Amino acid sequence: MAARKISFSGIQPSGELHIGNYLGAVRNWVKMQDDYELYICVVDLHAITQPYEPSELQQHVFDMAMTLMAAGIDPDRSTLFVQSHVPEHTELAWIFTSLAPVGELERMTQYKDKTARQKSILAGLLNYPILQTADILLYLAKVVPVGEDQLQHLEFSRKIARKWNARYGVFFPEPEALIGKVKKVLGLDGQSKMSKSLGNTIGLLESPEAIWEKLRPAYTDPARKTRKDPGNPDICNIFSLHQHFSSEEDRAWAAEGCRTAGIGCIDCKRRLADNMIEALRPIRERAEELKASPQLVYDALERGGEHCRQVAAATMSQVRQRMGLRSAKGPDSERDAHA
Ligand code: SF4
Repeated sequence: MAARKISFSGIQPSGELHIGNYLGAVRNWVKMQDDYELYICVVDLHAITQPYEPSELQQHVFDMAMTLMAAGIDPDRSTLFVQSHVPEHTELAWIFTSLAPVGELERMTQYKDKTARQKSILAGLLNYPILQTADILLYLAKVVPVGEDQLQHLEFSRKIARKWNARYGVFFPEPEALIGKVKKVLGLDGQSKMSKSLGNTIGLLESPEAIWEKLRPAYTDPARKTRKDPGNPDICNIFSLHQHFSSEEDRAWAAEGCRTAGIGCIDCKRRLADNMIEALRPIRERAEELKASPQLVYDALERGGEHCRQVAAATMSQVRQRMGLRSAKGPDSERDAHA
């Protein structure tokens, strides 16, 4: 059987996986599990580049790993792990700083967005794409599923791989982007990308009541001031969400009812809520099981970390050798024996 391509994905332990993350990324990862060798990393070292509460970080890491498993990431088929459990991520990141032009890092759109209103900018934010590059290349990943907003960072990773290979001999692959079908999921404000920091999300594990409470006041086509005013479903985010959760029949009902004012927005949202609640039910139920047996999550992370440390040790042995950073004990050292 041909070897499966290695794919790497990272996700921050934000404390909540929302339906935007799920539709835009996680659902694809779940589908990729049979065809790719998947590494799914909870990137806690990236999370600390923003203000955070240390006493909550472990819980957020657990919650993210648990939700990923509930959503269908199977630790028997994929490697699920925590970034800080594999120290080589930071070692390789430091090595890549010696190849990364500061000017290029400063031109990154995400860096500019994140630092626009900051007086004192932390180097961690600037160097974020370097750590991302190390995350990917440590496992020699050839594929990275990304949204369009991540393409710039991936291009940077490809450039670093090229530079390193040119200087020290070809070793790292140039990872390719795998762009998902769902380009962007808007939040409940109907304007911006769904994002926890904007407070416009629906969490993947929210109760049926909470889903309805959030959908009820969500933004719709402003032309529908009253029930009698017809609207345009093509510009309404509620209708976009119907595309992901509702049957063809329900989508046709919503489109027709909207254009002819045959239904009110509240009817349209109620139908969406019912379909969403039903679609997410298996994930919610699986999450309840995992919460009741947290050791299943901890064991999966432990196994994932163990596997990653072995792979990372082999990669770093090659990297150190080629860069003249061979350990003081020489080629027979215990560490090199893993290569
Ligand atoms: Fe949006 Fe549905 Fe209202 Fe039309 S009827 S504006 S698609 S919520």
